[in-house]
Amino acid sequence: MEKKEMLYEGKAKKVYATEEPDVLIVSYKDDATAFNGEKKGTIVGKGAINNRMTNFIFKKLEERGVPTHLVKELNDRETAVKRVDIVPLEVIIRNYSAGSFSKKMGMEEGVKFKCPTLEFSYKNDDLGDPFINDYYALALGLASQEEIGQITQYAFQVNEVLQHYFDKLNIDLIDFKIEFGRFHGQIILADEISPDTCRLWDKDTHEKLDKDRFRRDLGGVEDAYEEVFKRLGIQ
Ligand code: UDP
Repeated sequence: MEKKEMLYEGKAKKVYATEEPDVLIVSYKDDATAFNGEKKGTIVGKGAINNRMTNFIFKKLEERGVPTHLVKELNDRETAVKRVDIVPLEVIIRNYSAGSFSKKMGMEEGVKFKCPTLEFSYKNDDLGDPFINDYYALALGLASQEEIGQITQYAFQVNEVLQHYFDKLNIDLIDFKIEFGRFHGQIILADEISPDTCRLWDKDTHEKLDKDRFRRDLGGVEDAYEEVFKRLGIQ
């Protein structure tokens, strides 16, 4: 599989065409941004960790019935993926209060919910990814009712698998963001699942092992990413 022209460069990844029309190559960067691109930096080694962690998790999810865009890991930073049409929704699942939820609801971080929550943001950087509901998504034609149903079902399924998995690694899955795409009419999981897109807290110390260390200038950013990677035991 060979990289052809670069199609897109985002905040954390570059995307290339390949000789196969249905396959793209994603290349993960060490660049980090936060607050809609206002804060910029580098997290050394992040690209390789996020690439390998995403692929490792996507394989587990596939085994448990969640279809993903993963085709093949090519090297530390690069992966061949199915070319999807991304549904412009950020799907956020929360198990504990944190981040924007805590701010909005006036609740301290780390309170466990009675049941997981799900919310959508409209993927639009110019608008700062505003919070929307199913009706907005339908009214704006961002996804069909059937697609929203499938996305919701898969998102909770991803949560079940991830929660169970991180639990064994002595990590609480506070919240995470996922994205889906359409591939030949089917909804499949796309993008990534990594410390960039999840809040992961050590169960005993409640130490943050995720991008909040970068967002909030807590230090030890690289060490946190490496710690998660190490606990996953990826060979
Ligand atoms: N998240 C993400 N990309 C975004 C916004 C949020 O990956 O553009 C993740 C974030 O890392 C966290 C979860 O989604 O794990 C919930 O984020 P929240 O809405 O609390 O927003 P934040 O406080 O990060 O702005």
